Amino acid sequence: MSGHSYSNICPECECEEETLMCYCENRPYDIVNGYCVNCGFAYYTTEERLTKEELKEQQKEHGYNPKTNKFE
Ligand SMILES: [Zn+2]
Repeated sequence: MSGHSYSNICPECECEEETLMCYCENRPYDIVNGYCVNCGFAYYTTEERLTKEELKEQQKEHGYNPKTNKFE
């Protein structure tokens, strides 16, 4: 396992104890998740895909040409 576990102060309940149980892994991309054993607050990385319109917009913004697979 390449992941890393640690505990932290929960941003929701701000319990003095580090009740936020966190986990992170950076392959194949940054994946994080955590949950608070005190209040139940939780977060995690989600995967999604841009819509065709959003993708076109981002390609334009970054100067990426999907036809040549190059940044111009
Ligand atoms: Zn909490």
